[in-house]
Amino acid sequence: MDKDAAATQPKGWTLGAIRNRNLRLEVYCQSEGCGWFGSFDLDQLIESVGPQYELADDGPGFPCEKCGGPDLKFMLALAHSGAGQEGED
Ligand SMILES: [Zn+2]
Repeated sequence: MDKDAAATQPKGWTLGAIRNRNLRLEVYCQSEGCGWFGSFDLDQLIESVGPQYELADDGPGFPCEKCGGPDLKFMLALAHSGAGQEGED
């Protein structure tokens, strides 16, 4: 039984698992002078690399969309669409 994965350091997440749980993949760039923050489109990522793509815990493996730098950090955020649901399934 795991708690909400929001804002934790995710480990061993696959794109498919993230989508199944209705989480958003938010990333921020650590390159100096950039600081880009955004979220990746899971459907789009899954289409290109597949749902089994596993995110390394030191970065999603995708370049920053703004500066192209590899120094991205990521976290999972809840993309809530219902109230009062515990997301157990
Ligand atoms: Zn950047």
